[in-house]
Amino acid sequence: MELINPRTFLIVANLLGLLCALVLWVQAKSFPADIGGLRDWAKAVVLMGCASGLASLRGLIPDAFAIVLAAALLLSGELLLVIGLLRYSGRTPQWRPAVDAVAGLVLLVAWLTWGSPSYPGRIFIMALAHIAFFALGAWLAQQAKPAGFGSRLLSAMFVLGVAVAVLRIATLSTDFAGADEAFDRDPIQQVYLGAFSLGILGLSIGFILIANERLREELEYLATRDPMTGAFNRRAFFARAEIEWARAARSRRPLAAIVSDIDFFKKVNDTHGHHVGDLVIKDFARRAGGMLRLPDILARFGGEEFVILLPETGLQDGCRVAERIRQEIEKRRDKALPPYTVSLGVAVAGDDGPADLEALLAVADAALYRAKQGGRNRVEA
Ligand code: GH3
Ligand code: MG
Ligand code: MG
Repeated sequence: MELINPRTFLIVANLLGLLCALVLWVQAKSFPADIGGLRDWAKAVVLMGCASGLASLRGLIPDAFAIVLAAALLLSGELLLVIGLLRYSGRTPQWRPAVDAVAGLVLLVAWLTWGSPSYPGRIFIMALAHIAFFALGAWLAQQAKPAGFGSRLLSAMFVLGVAVAVLRIATLSTDFAGADEAFDRDPIQQVYLGAFSLGILGLSIGFILIANERLREELEYLATRDPMTGAFNRRAFFARAEIEWARAARSRRPLAAIVSDIDFFKKVNDTHGHHVGDLVIKDFARRAGGMLRLPDILARFGGEEFVILLPETGLQDGCRVAERIRQEIEKRRDKALPPYTVSLGVAVAGDDGPADLEALLAVADAALYRAKQGGRNRVEA
């Protein structure tokens, strides 16, 4: 008595695969266009599901469907998996050579079916193709961003696919060599197809996960960043700065804040136009941001005014950072932009310093005011 009828198992696995394809398709419609590949994966899962369904009907339907068409669908599906991953990572796939390769493999399978029939020959060719596609998939999945659970699941499933195909080749010799058996009478082929269908399920879930992780990252970026410069917005700044404030208070380490404002910026706008003004603001954010450490927080508070929070930084070091930024900005790096300068105010939180974050920024603001009064292009603390 059988515990599970292999054919029933395949049908259930393939139905679940179709469900995943539906989820992928629905997500493709609602996701931002820059998260590509979801449609390719939906199609791939359907193609591979059909292929495994056809293959399981060996002996019941003509070989043209159960072998050759099944191989064509399977290889096209695997190709689409790779194409989808390429699109997901923002690359433009090269269709032509890949389609040629798949067509060549299908012809070879057809020849091994009718021309010079060889069951092990076909299995061998198909397993080699699986290894190639899955190895490529594993490599792409391993680099796919974000590097979270979805990416790891995808890579693991692809590697598992490679392992199963290698195992299939290894068991070829123990198979009744040369006999062209139907699905019902070849237990190894049953296990192989079953593992394959489960693998497709795992892969689809991995791709759904990674795409959702990416969506979450993109939405978080949009919610916390100033779209023009990529610096944090005011709300995100305070959310992060409060944590740093609490950490600094607990560990009794200093915390420095720099408030900066570009000098005579109205004149840049008036002389060169608003567009050049925007470019100057972006230039400042890029160059100032490039001089900070990883834990430092750069935020755009509005117009051409930026705030920088420097954890574990005292007044002297804070002033040094501000002065480095002032000197860097003074140098004219981009000849397409007018020269400009910046004034900066520095304040530090400590034992007898400002009582809260707002007060710290107010002290830095007052220092900035003095820098402006004192002639601009300078740092005040
Ligand atoms: P000061 O040296 O005293 O800072 O003089 P200023 O001309 O820079 O004065 P202020 O800082 O008050 O100027 C802010 C100007 O920035 C006013 C506004 O027109 C301009 N501005 C605000 N937001 C933007 C923006 O997103 N793009 C551009 N191009 N200009 C902006
Ligand atoms: Mg200004
Ligand atoms: Mg200003």
